[in-house]
Amino acid sequence: MTTMQLEPELIPLAMLNALAYCPRRFVYEYVQGEMLLNAHVVEGTLRHAAVDAEGTAWRGEVVQHRRVYVWSDRLRIGGFCDVVEEQAGQLQPVEYKKGKPGKWPSDHVQLCGQALCLEERTGQMIGQGAIFYFAARRREVVVFTPELRAQTEQVVAAAHALVASGELPPPVEQRAKCRECSLEPLCMPRLAGLLERWQARGEELG
Ligand code: SF4
Repeated sequence: MTTMQLEPELIPLAMLNALAYCPRRFVYEYVQGEMLLNAHVVEGTLRHAAVDAEGTAWRGEVVQHRRVYVWSDRLRIGGFCDVVEEQAGQLQPVEYKKGKPGKWPSDHVQLCGQALCLEERTGQMIGQGAIFYFAARRREVVVFTPELRAQTEQVVAAAHALVASGELPPPVEQRAKCRECSLEPLCMPRLAGLLERWQARGEELG
């Protein structure tokens, strides 16, 4: 089914993560407002609540600004950085995630979106950021390479295009993603794939 939606002013940064993971998931979550709660989603929300308090703290030489709202007028995206760290005048965004580093780089796209917003707001080049994974107790440094920046801008363009069209994209090819996706019971990717093939065969037969 196709639904038309008015384009919002800013697409939330967290939704760039959803789109980089799977365009169909982006449309379910953002355009259609669907969300299924499971233990992983609830745990992630609680973990985030623990780092969501606003404020500033000093960790040695590093100043940590918590829950900083950033946006880009150029890209029409916006949202909160969990933490923006400041050291010797240099800024870097830090994102907190419940799980372990994933096989798919969608977290990197979300973080790079934060960096692009920070750059536009401050005029400062942001060379790198970090993601802290609670389950792995690991902080991963993410360098904002030209390739990651280009990928992030492509994801932003795709997000605006999907919001404008309201189209529900087909399921992703990588079914390992579906096994880890909280929306799998709603999406039913195997059935959706079968229906698409039946429809294509029907159109071929006239
Ligand atoms: S189940 Fe698979 S195709 Fe469906 S939204 Fe999740 S990742 Fe995308």
